[in-house]
This record gives sequence, C-alpha cells and structure tokens, in this order.
Amino acid sequence: MKAAIYNEFQGPISIASVSDPNPSEFGVVIKVEASGLCLSDWHGWMGDDKDIVLPHVPGHELAGTVMTAGKKVKNWSEGQRVTVPFVGGCGSCSYCLSGNQQVCDFQFQPGFTAWGSFAEYVAIDYADANLVALPDDMNFLEAAGLGCRFITAYRGVREQGKLTSDQTLAVHGCGGVGLSAIQIAKGIGAKVIAIDISDEKCDFAKDLGADYTINGSKNDVVQAVKELSGGGVHVSMDALGHTITCLNSILGLRKRGKHIQVGLMTSSHATPPIPMPLVVANELEILGSHGMQSHKYGELFDFIKATGINLKKMITETLALEEVPIHLPEMYRSNSAGITVINSF
Ligand SMILES: [Zn+2]
Ligand SMILES: [Zn+2]
Repeated sequence: MKAAIYNEFQGPISIASVSDPNPSEFGVVIKVEASGLCLSDWHGWMGDDKDIVLPHVPGHELAGTVMTAGKKVKNWSEGQRVTVPFVGGCGSCSYCLSGNQQVCDFQFQPGFTAWGSFAEYVAIDYADANLVALPDDMNFLEAAGLGCRFITAYRGVREQGKLTSDQTLAVHGCGGVGLSAIQIAKGIGAKVIAIDISDEKCDFAKDLGADYTINGSKNDVVQAVKELSGGGVHVSMDALGHTITCLNSILGLRKRGKHIQVGLMTSSHATPPIPMPLVVANELEILGSHGMQSHKYGELFDFIKATGINLKKMITETLALEEVPIHLPEMYRSNSAGITVINSF
C-alpha cells in the first residue's frame, strides 16, 4: 500500500510503498477514506510522543470501510463504514470496564502506538471495544473531521466542564479543538468568548457562533475575559497547550470555575505555572480531557443532529496523501483557520 512515512523525528516524510497491514486476532483492517491532519501528528513527528517507534506512519483521525476482521472479532465485518476514537481501549482493564476507555492502561492509538491512517489501509486493534458505525447521513469527510478534536472538545465541554446554557465558556486558541468547543457550547446554548492571536482565526470563531472574540496579541486577555463575563467565566478551555494560554484560562475563571486542559503541553510548555493559591481560595477545578470513549459517539451524533452543528463548515481544506510531506512539517506555523482532511489516497 501507499503510505506517508518518516524514518527520523523532524526528518523528511516520503510517500512510499509498504506492506499491507494484517489484522490482529481482535483487530480489523480499514480502507482509509478520509483522515484529518492534526497538530498531534506534528508533535509526533517532532519527537514529542514516547510511544512512536521509527519508522512511522502518522494519522489518527480516520474514517473508512472495514476490509478484513481478525478471528476473534465479534461485531464487525467487511464493508461496514466506521470511525474510531484516537485513544482505543483494550476493553478489559479496570478503566475500560468502568467505561473510561479514554484512559485505558493498554491504549491502542493509531498514528502513535502503531502505524496510522496516512496510508491506504490501517490496522486497528481491539475492534469490538472501539469501532463506531457511521450514521448513514454522515460522510467520511465529516466523520474524519470529528477527529480527535471535536470528540475531545465535546467530552471536555460537556462531561468534564459540565457547561450549561446559563453559563459562559472561554476558549483559548481557535484551532480545530477550540472551534469545535465553540460550536458545542453554542449547541448547549451557553455564551462563548473566543481568544486567539490571529484576526483570521478570531473571525472564523465568530462565524461559528462565538459571542465575543479577543485578539490576545493586542489585548490583556484576562482583563477582557473578566469584563465580558461579568467577573470571570464558569468554564474555560486551553485548546492550544501553551504556558500562557493555560495561565490565562485559569486566571479568567470565576470562583468555583473549571479549567479544562485539552491542548497538549510538551517540551518547554510541559510545566505551566499553575496559581495554586488561587485554585484553593476560589475552589477552582483543573481538569484534563483525553479523547472520548467509543460508547459516547451515539450521544454525540444525536447532539450534532439536534443542534444542527455543521461539521463541514470546519473543514476548510482537503488534501491528497501526496501533499502530507509538505504540509505536516509546516503545521505549527500555519495560520489557516479550520480543519484539514486528506481525502485522496
Ligand atoms: Zn483498557
Ligand atoms: Zn488529532
């Protein structure tokens, strides 16, 4: 099969012909029809993820068709249209048994712990615990657009943040996660303040429903958030993963507010300065959010349908697999708003 592959971190990425994957006993092989290009793929290529073994094929935001299933797979067979969360649970550890596959002890993560979906085919382990059937009216492009970003934002805003319609959410960073969080919060009926340092991304956030936008390069973010929310927001998300956005997010909370950390904190951002005296005095909650379990997708599909969220609107660019070697290394510098999906393999 054809795949985008690299042999060293931060090294060249090439399109090469590699062996077709075989399913494990409990796994399937999926023909990839669409795959999102995500900043986490860039982090992986940079060498920030200790799970990656070289040479490596990235890609974790996939949708496609089941081609073959392993001997012990019960629920899936050839021809089914599926997607899969980027954190796959083993299905049998204590976390999986409690319904929290997103923090499984033996995670399968395509594009990280194994080769991913920047290829014609991808092998997915623990199929019965993780595969999700696509609704008939959802195409592969939209399903890949859910990626890690929309599902992580959904879990962050609804499960972790418990945002309600009478509350205000601040979103720090308007990339894929941030834009998803904005749409989800508007679906709930809450007010949204979106913050980014790019006017273009602020404009796109407004387009997707943000009530207010703040350009962080031109304003005192914490002061502006407090003014716009009457003293601080109920829930705040760092969707970027930066010491400054993390701190701004916490400082913009009202008493008993919740900070949701979704953006990955790596290298120089790995130990952000958390103002613990404020966390204690104001009873703030600091919560992480790590993907979403496959069994929550049904609820997510219902929510998308009920709120009329337009997944297509977030997908602003489509690519061919051959364009990955140029696009992936440039991702951190990219200023373009919205999500990029590979839809030609
Ligand atoms: Zn598990
Ligand atoms: Zn992702």
